Formats: sequence, structure tokens, C-alpha cells
Amino acid sequence: MTTRTTALLDQFMDQITPRHRGDDEFLQAVKEVASDVLTIEKASHAFTAARALERLCEADRIISFRITWRDDAGDVQINQGWRVQHSNLLGPYKGGLRWVPGLSRSVLKFLAFEQAFKNALTGLPLGAAKGGADFDPAGRSMAEIERFVLAFMAELSAHIGPDRDVPAGDIGVSGVEIGLMQRAWMQYARRWGGAMTGKPLPLGGSDVRAEATGYGLIYFTAAMLAEQGEDFDGKRLAISGRGNVSSHAARKAMQMGAKVITLSGRAGTWHAADGFNHDALDWVLGASDDQAYTPAKDLGVTFLENTRPWGMDPDIALPCATQNEVELADAKALADSGCRFLAEGANMPLTAQAEAHLSKMGVTQAPGKAANAGGVAVSGLEMQQNASFDRWSPARVDQALHDIMCDIHARLKAERSSCCTETGQIDYRRAANVAGYRKLAQAVVDGGAI
Ligand code: GLU
Repeated sequence: MTTRTTALLDQFMDQITPRHRGDDEFLQAVKEVASDVLTIEKASHAFTAARALERLCEADRIISFRITWRDDAGDVQINQGWRVQHSNLLGPYKGGLRWVPGLSRSVLKFLAFEQAFKNALTGLPLGAAKGGADFDPAGRSMAEIERFVLAFMAELSAHIGPDRDVPAGDIGVSGVEIGLMQRAWMQYARRWGGAMTGKPLPLGGSDVRAEATGYGLIYFTAAMLAEQGEDFDGKRLAISGRGNVSSHAARKAMQMGAKVITLSGRAGTWHAADGFNHDALDWVLGASDDQAYTPAKDLGVTFLENTRPWGMDPDIALPCATQNEVELADAKALADSGCRFLAEGANMPLTAQAEAHLSKMGVTQAPGKAANAGGVAVSGLEMQQNASFDRWSPARVDQALHDIMCDIHARLKAERSSCCTETGQIDYRRAANVAGYRKLAQAVVDGGAI
């Protein structure tokens, strides 16, 4: 960073920090974006006069509420819920809901801020939001989940709707829970409408929505590989997680000829030195936490307790689990073993130090706001289908997803002249921030001081 950029960044962060003291994840995300776009803001009179970036850092509103419900034992349970409605400049507020114990406002603020850039990059008319609750769905009965959903939606329903705010799933919230939330909204609102995306198909969901983030990640990575004259064939992929994103990414990558050598869970990593075959993949994805550690039959898979997937000599790393899951030591292991590409299936899975190290070592990195935009992109297509009372074929949705991911790659490539690494490759992180910022900042300017 030049001295001028450092000075601009310090001055900007001094302005922003007092309003968000203690919201560390949020400030980390803002700083990362600001370091890439402040010089662009300063070079534009319109963006500077509108104070575009500063405005893009403040959520339109944060709704915070209490959720009270009764568990199966008859005891009262209390949780906290939030919806960060970050911006509706480009379209209705849009982004997932996560149910995670210990969830905080800061994490949701950072995710909503990132979502604004991600959604802008899709090219679809989508605003940005994020929400959730500090609720742990693990081990809860279906009856408990339903009572929780009714209590959660009693509050949230008043703030959402097809042209207002359209939540989807995220960690801890999948199609089943979305189906319940959609139904609850229909009851509270007394009408039909696509108030949620990621819905089960009979409730107005879209084909390929469940697969979309994982497939999109692979489509984006394929475009990034092609840019350097390469493809997936025979490449060794380390994937973390074994949830929705990881599982569909693994299947699509295997279809395209890659060898998936890891998946992971809370307790450690499954490693298949020669790549998972379909039986092994099905087994790891289907195993319960208790069964998972010792494969029932010989599938060529070992379970490595308390080990992360990053030390297994991959060519490509796809962190798909959660934020800050790749730390400096992991980044060193990846770079030392010759990994050359990384694409983020999760949001902000690298710590700032890990990211800096991989950049220094010349590893080409695709940030989550571009690489995992496939999920929200197909949500946008689900909204289009709902709004036009239409239903597209799986092939049509998959083709549209593929095209959107290639368009995102092309948008980042178009920023190449000012977003280039020392080795002459596209700096995808910077390019995503710059391309997303340009779109959002122009919308800020066009909307005046309102
Ligand atoms: N939770 C996903 C994301 O982080 C999807 C959001 C959506 O479809 O609204 O982008």
C-alpha cells in the first residue's frame, strides 16, 4: 500500500470506528474494502461529494428482537434474533438467515456489508441484508423447530416480503426450515408471495437452488483456472466443511475431473489421498457426527482428528466452512505444499494474516463475494420465477447460474488494469471490491442525499 493510501485508510477508519466500536469482524471487513476503493472514491468528485463509501458502511437499519418459545420438556427458552437490512439501493433487501449459538450482531453486520458487494456483482437487482438468531438447531426435535420458527417469524414477518426483504438460508438454516418460515409468513401476511428463497419446490422454490453455491463456486473456479490456461482435470482439491456448499462443490468438481482429497467437520478432517470416490463421498456426507470417525468399510478414507484440511498438498483449496477458518499457519502449509489457487465457498474464511501470506506467495485467490455468489444469484432467479408465476427447468436455472458466474469473472477481469498482482495475474480480491463499489457508489450518487 502506498503512503497516500495508508493515510487515507487511517483517516477513514478513524471516522468509522467510533460508530462501531467492538464490532471487530465488521471493522475488519470494512478495512479490507476501504483499502481497495478509497483511491477510487478520491479520484471521483461525485463519489467523494456523496461520501459514498461512508454511507455504504452504515446499515439502513438493524432490527433486533427477543424470541421466546417452549421446548419439548415444557421449559421456556429465550433467544435473540436480528435482521440487518443493509441496503436496498439495488433491489429488495436480500441475504441469508443463520442460526448459530453465540451469533453476534457484529458478525451479522459484517456479513450484510459483504452481501452488498456480492449481490452487486451478480448483476441482478438485489439489495443486501443478513440475519439470524443465537439458536442452536442441533438436537432439536421438529416440533421444537416449528415452535421456534413461529416465535421467530412473529417478529420477522412484519419486516419482510417479496419486494421488501427476502431472506434465505445460511448456516443452520436449510430448505426444511425455510419451508416453515415461508409458511409462517404466509399465515401472518395472509397472502401468497415469495417472502423467502431456498424454499422447497412445492412451496415455490427453484430447481438448483440447493446446489447453487457449491456449483457456482466450481464454475467460478473453472473460469479462474481457464484464465491461466488450466482446468480441473486431475487437480487435487482440499475442501473444508461437509455441509451444503462443500458437498455440492465436491460433486461438481469430481464431475469436472478433479480429485477431492478432503472434507472436514468440527472434530477433524476426512482425507482420501487418491481422491474420494462416489461411495466414499456419500458415506462422509451421510455419516452422523458419532459414526463419522471410523469409516464402516474400506473406502480409502482416513479421519484425522483435530486436523484441518490445509496440510494435505492440494493444488486448489476451497474453504467452505466458516469465517476465519484459515489462519496464518494454515496459509503457510498451503503455500509450502505448492497450492496455487484458493476460492472461498464460505464468507471471509481467511484471517487478514492468512490472506496477506497467500498473496505474498502468489496464490491466486477468489474472494467469497465473487466465488460464492451462486447461492444468492439463484435466489434472484427464484424471485424472478415467483414474481412471474413461472417455473424454470433445472437445465435453464443451471445454465443461467453458469452464465452469471462467468459474467462475474468477466466483471472482475475488466478491472485488471488497476487490479493486478505482482506476478501479473488478476487480483480478484481487489477487483471484486472495486467492481462492487463502483456499482453501489453510482447508485448512492444517483439517489442524491436521500
Ligand atoms: N446465505 C447465502 C449467501 O451468503 C445466500 C443468501 C441468499 O440467497 O439470499 O450469499
